[in-house]
Amino acid sequence: MNEQKILIADDDGHGIDTAGKRTPLFPDGTYMKENEFNRAVIDKLNVHLKRNNFDVLHVSAGDTDVPLKTRTDLANNTIPNGFGRPADAFLSVHANAAGNVWNSKVKGIEIFYRAGYKEGKKLAQDVQEYLVKGTPLFNRGLKTNNLHVTREAKMPAILIEGGFMDNPDEAKLLMSDAYREECAEEIARGICQYFGRTYIEVTPPAPPLPVGVNPVSIVIGSNDPYSGLLINGSSWVPAKEVLTVLGVKTWMFQKKSIYIGESSVETKIINNTSYIKSVDLVSLGILKGVFFDPDVVNTKRVLLFPKEAV
Ligand SMILES: [Zn+2]
Repeated sequence: MNEQKILIADDDGHGIDTAGKRTPLFPDGTYMKENEFNRAVIDKLNVHLKRNNFDVLHVSAGDTDVPLKTRTDLANNTIPNGFGRPADAFLSVHANAAGNVWNSKVKGIEIFYRAGYKEGKKLAQDVQEYLVKGTPLFNRGLKTNNLHVTREAKMPAILIEGGFMDNPDEAKLLMSDAYREECAEEIARGICQYFGRTYIEVTPPAPPLPVGVNPVSIVIGSNDPYSGLLINGSSWVPAKEVLTVLGVKTWMFQKKSIYIGESSVETKIINNTSYIKSVDLVSLGILKGVFFDPDVVNTKRVLLFPKEAV
């Protein structure tokens, strides 16, 4: 049976049209609704959480203002939440407001937790640590208050106020995709830290291969295929991975070349990986043979046959 994942319940604060939850009017007559920020952060956060192998329970789906009790009941699984278990942590994302007119004096990020609940405070600390490191906003610190979500959720629960909608500078940040992304990423890092996990970064796309160089799967026995290259009808294999699986111990990398025993082997370095030719491994007596499947012209994969079984 698979190990059960940690379940994070999250909540985007208000409905999109909840009265009063918006910035004051900008000079051009436009404004931002609080839920636009909250929802964008939660959507981005959920992507990071799933990549980090958490289960995600969104407790305020849709455009309406889901009653607070429904949100915490779903997290507590007193309303069945589809996961059959209560969430392991709860978080609510909001934007702050001191009033309904522009006010440059109010500023910063603050996080609420339930007074006297040590685990809730620890979660708040971990998320705050990353949020204030990763964003330019002033740290208003951790707060306690008698809020429904932090009080009624039966798990560590925090309410994040990610900046003031009525501060004109912060309002612009709250409207920007970059700031929303930053908040989401830092919250995810804080959650990972709270649960003792190493944050899994977004994998950057692989840089493009040079012209005339094509990727090919290299198959050795029953191992998962390796990422090799086809260049002018020859197959090239990632040296370190393939020599390791073939059990070659006497190899090294020196002056931009791979050496196997005393022999230097023709080496290509592409996107920071050193590749050597499979046929050279045949000449050196490490492989019995190389087979192009289905053939040299339409190669889909290259099978390497080791001298010794691996
Ligand atoms: Zn709010």
